[in-house]
Amino acid sequence: MLNIKTCLLGKLIQIITDIPLMQREADRLREAGKRIVLVPTMGFFHEGHLNLMRLGRKEGDHLVVSIFVNPTQFGPTEDIKAYPRDFERDCAMAESVGVDTVFLPPADAMYTGGYQTYVSLERLPLHLCGLSRPNHFRGVSSVVTKLFHVAKPHTAVFGEKDRQQLIIIRRMVRDLNFDIKIVGGPIVREDDGLAMSSRNFYFSKEERLSAPVLFQTLQAAQKLVEQGERNSRRIIAMAGELILSRPHTRIDYVSICDPETLEDVDQIDKEALMALAVYVGKARLIDNTVLHAVRD
Ligand code: AMP
Repeated sequence: MLNIKTCLLGKLIQIITDIPLMQREADRLREAGKRIVLVPTMGFFHEGHLNLMRLGRKEGDHLVVSIFVNPTQFGPTEDIKAYPRDFERDCAMAESVGVDTVFLPPADAMYTGGYQTYVSLERLPLHLCGLSRPNHFRGVSSVVTKLFHVAKPHTAVFGEKDRQQLIIIRRMVRDLNFDIKIVGGPIVREDDGLAMSSRNFYFSKEERLSAPVLFQTLQAAQKLVEQGERNSRRIIAMAGELILSRPHTRIDYVSICDPETLEDVDQIDKEALMALAVYVGKARLIDNTVLHAVRD
């Protein structure tokens, strides 16, 4: 049974919850010569997700979006139950940008009793978000591997908002010879610069006013670099002051690092990745940009 449901817009979109069924559907599409594109998500869609889907639409013939709030990437103090969910709304939004299949596996089917197999990278997870979320990227690389085996995509699309995740997936795909093209999508922002996130839902009014400070900090850093500043330590000091000047903020990290290895860099030669994680109230926000010392 294909489990096709009608979404709010009234058109048909295929909703698959069963893992073997998704695999058979992927086989059928491949046998018919269709190119499958996968956009993995945790749902509660916003324009950032929709933009990845639009990018994905152009990359192939059949667009699959997975919605799975993956328990293995949440830490013991992180409340997975509080993660926002609205499947009907997600489904209507996905349909509006031309998604063909929503894959919605139940957690107990993804992680059956006795589950014990993980994919983990040696060094990339030891930086940035991996420091305060120790098993997070092991959960991400493992679940993405599983989704690749189930949806069998030719191409998968990930957002630059989670830049470390994108770098890790690219590395994993290369290291493990996955025959899958990885496409990165640009960060989509609110009018005031705040990177869109399902977690933006948690703010009080006051906290929401502080939240754009992440983007403002990245812009201020780029400006310093354009004015000739090359010293990472001084840029990080400026960033810290600016962030903490706003109420309800607490810094997890401010880093200037190599865009491939994520190792800290002391001096910015040509370009460097600047990445931030900042608590605004209870919400932990991340943002990043590539600082360019020489504009093309
Ligand atoms: P999530 O549902 O938060 O796990 O995100 C699913 C995908 O959407 C990931 O590849 C994220 O990097 C991407 N994404 C989330 N927010 C944004 C955004 N504001 N701009 C671009 N991509 C995003």
